[in-house]
Amino acid sequence: MSAEKLQVGKPNPYAVAVEQFMIAADKLNLDDGMKQILSQPKRELIVHFPVRLDDGSYRVFTGFRVQHSLTRGPAKGGIRYHQDVSLDEVKALAMWMTWKCATVGIPYGGAKGGVIVDPRERSLAEMERLTRRFAVEIAPIIGPEIDIPAPDVNTNAQTMAWIMDTISMLKGYPIPGLITGKPIAIEGSLGRNEATARGLVYVIREAVKTVGMNLQGARIAIQGYGNVGSNSARLLQEDGAKIIAVSDVNGGIYSSNGIDTVGALRYNQEHGRLAGFDGTDSITNAELLEVDCDILIPAALESVLTRGNADRVKATMIVEAANGPTTPEADLILHDKGVIILPDILANAGGVTVSYFEWAQNIQGYYWAEDEVNQKLERVMKRSFQDVYETAENNKVDVRTGAYMLAISRVAEVTRLRGIFP
Ligand code: NAD
Repeated sequence: MSAEKLQVGKPNPYAVAVEQFMIAADKLNLDDGMKQILSQPKRELIVHFPVRLDDGSYRVFTGFRVQHSLTRGPAKGGIRYHQDVSLDEVKALAMWMTWKCATVGIPYGGAKGGVIVDPRERSLAEMERLTRRFAVEIAPIIGPEIDIPAPDVNTNAQTMAWIMDTISMLKGYPIPGLITGKPIAIEGSLGRNEATARGLVYVIREAVKTVGMNLQGARIAIQGYGNVGSNSARLLQEDGAKIIAVSDVNGGIYSSNGIDTVGALRYNQEHGRLAGFDGTDSITNAELLEVDCDILIPAALESVLTRGNADRVKATMIVEAANGPTTPEADLILHDKGVIILPDILANAGGVTVSYFEWAQNIQGYYWAEDEVNQKLERVMKRSFQDVYETAENNKVDVRTGAYMLAISRVAEVTRLRGIFP
């Protein structure tokens, strides 16, 4: 593999993704040809494009769209706007999307996109022009039958609406099925906004039952209080769990008595920070990961659990809401300590599952009620947890390797059945 193992200070995400793939591929005894096919992206598009800034000057931005696989269906994956986006990060995220869709058995391959931009430095009008131009640059390889983008870090329903409009203007008719995570008013799906958190909770419910824990009174710490983190906190509290610590980019709060999750969200929106919320003490993000708790949920960034802190983690179970929060070295340390890790490609797959429902509704032109969406999501997540857990038990491996083995074997089977062209 060509990917360098280390960038300065941070593991290269593509090297991590390939390493995780190889562990499961070896267990599955995949031959070298199949390993080569499945460990590389099918297409990598790099675009450099000018955008007119508000002061009348122009600036060239760089963006990526990577399709890792279209073997089981059209490619699917979000678009991320961040100053640190790199091709290797997008390649890793695209590969994880392939395994995620296969883990939950939805008929998609994996893709991801990104633009190197710090949205905090750009106006809304500049972000709209950037989005529309980027959409045109990647237009040759996206569409309802080939590659369906969605929101990711720093992109949202409005961004999706601009992309849908831009491509629809080019074609001359509305194409809602080319992108998911759209506003409800332009054929988004009910339930999509909370879907990742809801899916996470369905998986946690199954997992605690299976391993003999109890969600009632379970002490939970959550890093990241955005869409996934704050919705998971609220839903888990409704299930009787005690949320004892939460954090965001500015730091966190702790209370052994449990935090009022809805009040904390409101406080954060009003004050721009969690610190100072009634009845809580301030903690740092580093402290939150090491808090004495039953379940730890990283719901912010990649590579936060590393060999530097893994041996100090006290949780019994880690549920990966974020993509790639645990490095392979941390994985080994945590596994040796007996910590159960519910991996990202299972735990956070509720988002892409309801994106699939959104696409299916767009293509049918027929829309479902919210409780129908949630019931269908629950069925997918419950069944997927059981499939993954059974694979892990049967092969005497940890849950992550079980999920990878299940996902990779599903993609490999379709690759074999379709055969290699020509
Ligand atoms: P978001 O932007 O709504 O929230 C991100 C949260 O992380 C914010 O509270 C932010 O303050 C916090 N954060 C940022 N940098 C941090 C840092 N250095 N330390 C601690 N906290 C920090 O994003 P989201 O949609 O909730 O996504 C969170 C994670 O879940 C991401 O890894 C994303 O890829 C993953 N994910 C999201 C979805 C989805 O449907 N939204 C689906 C699958 C996976």
